[in-house]
Amino acid sequence: MKMIRTLGLVFAALVIPAAVFGQEAAPPDIEMWRLDCGTLVLSDTGPFSDGHLYDGQTRTMTDSCYVIHNGDRYLLWDAGLSGQLLGTSATEWIFTASLDRTIVDQLGDIGLSPENITFLGLSHYHDDHIGQASDFAGSTLLMNRRDFEVVAGGANASAAAALAPWLGDEAGEVSDFGGDHDVFGDGSVTILSMPGHTPGHSSLLVRLPETGPVLLTGDLYHFREQIENRGVPVFNTDRADTLASFERFLQIDQALDAMIVVQHDPGDLERLPAFPESAR
Ligand SMILES: [Zn+2]
Repeated sequence: MKMIRTLGLVFAALVIPAAVFGQEAAPPDIEMWRLDCGTLVLSDTGPFSDGHLYDGQTRTMTDSCYVIHNGDRYLLWDAGLSGQLLGTSATEWIFTASLDRTIVDQLGDIGLSPENITFLGLSHYHDDHIGQASDFAGSTLLMNRRDFEVVAGGANASAAAALAPWLGDEAGEVSDFGGDHDVFGDGSVTILSMPGHTPGHSSLLVRLPETGPVLLTGDLYHFREQIENRGVPVFNTDRADTLASFERFLQIDQALDAMIVVQHDPGDLERLPAFPESAR
């Protein structure tokens, strides 16, 4: 049996050009930067758990965005808080939002401009993830169909305003999808359907060649301890979907031995290199 296998390998090596083996063996050479896309101070964290896990607690959340490079194409994952917050702050309900630098400003540090961003991928339509989207009006918008339909249907006025470049007659390119989506077509970066926070909420799986698989949560979790305590915000659109997404997300995490990065948790910043350093 062993000899047959060995002969088979020799035969395969003779008939298949070495270049084919080379292409199959080499994982896509991708690179990822984390950008600072604002800060959210919570006067009361209570609404982040319908099980009363956080009543009366104050808290500070970071708002992060990510740039992923694959060949000559770039994905921007989430678009942070509005650029109008630069140098000021705004308070609404429990949130006080502020912004130190815009995404475009930070991209300049690594020699990029909006024209380089092929795809703008959005985890969901909330203000703190779409604030600077219109700076990338020339990019193809990637968004789960159930979230895009909420925005296109006008049910959320501020989301419709922020994503106006992709709505209406002269709209920019939109690629919407009903489930998971392979961003670059090579399996290196996959948008994962994780509904519950919003109807079409998504997380992101990034398979880095050296770091290994990284799972960016979107807002499936807001704080790291929610992975354990399964806290569900009162403002999620569907509690049962959220719990089902928790289960699938952790199944993927265990199967791939991935690293989870909770996008809003300041404690997770150190899991990736500090900008302008990148993770490979
Ligand atoms: Zn958020």
